Amino acid sequence: MGVNVVMLGPPGAGKGTQAERLATRFGVPRISTGDLLREAVAAGSPLGELVRAVMARGDLVGDALMIEVVRDRLTRPDAAPGFVLDGFPRTIPQAEALERLTAGLGALTVVELIVPEQELVRRLCSRRVCGSCGTNADPSAGADSRCGRCGGAWVQRTDDNAQVVRDRLAVFSRITRPLVDFYRSRAAYRQVDGTRPPDEVAAALAEIVGEEQR
Ligand SMILES: [Zn+2]
Repeated sequence: MGVNVVMLGPPGAGKGTQAERLATRFGVPRISTGDLLREAVAAGSPLGELVRAVMARGDLVGDALMIEVVRDRLTRPDAAPGFVLDGFPRTIPQAEALERLTAGLGALTVVELIVPEQELVRRLCSRRVCGSCGTNADPSAGADSRCGRCGGAWVQRTDDNAQVVRDRLAVFSRITRPLVDFYRSRAAYRQVDGTRPPDEVAAALAEIVGEEQR
């Protein structure tokens, strides 16, 4: 049975970093929808052209297109043993589509990283990102280090003042609450305290996923 993991959690919870660590540990790809959309646009595929058009209008990529992008990614050979999804699903229709896409591949394990709002605001306001590709800097990365993915320089996020951050978190929470409720009623839904040190969070996640494999 595959390692089929969905990571949930708000911006600033450490979801991307932990998804990457978990994926590496179990030898499956981390599938980040942010990366997928950037890749699709860069590749200029027909799907990418659709994504580019939506983003150029300043719109969010809708369910149907997002599901198509993820479906396309899940069929690549490296995803045969499983996946750690980061940023998908975001909506109930996406969650229902994921159940259809993974039918017969084994149960989904859904893990939500829990971090209080105050701590998220603190983290997000001090966050640096790669000026070239948008990857989040590890908070411990030195000032003279470069992006591990593309070699770009770190920049402070300019939109991350406290009120903007709080508004963004409120929007995120409103959009994803129905999704959390959807998964809460499922057996393989677990919460992990995201305020613990990163190594402890990683260990807790690995244990949960390991249990589901047994
Ligand atoms: Zn970069």
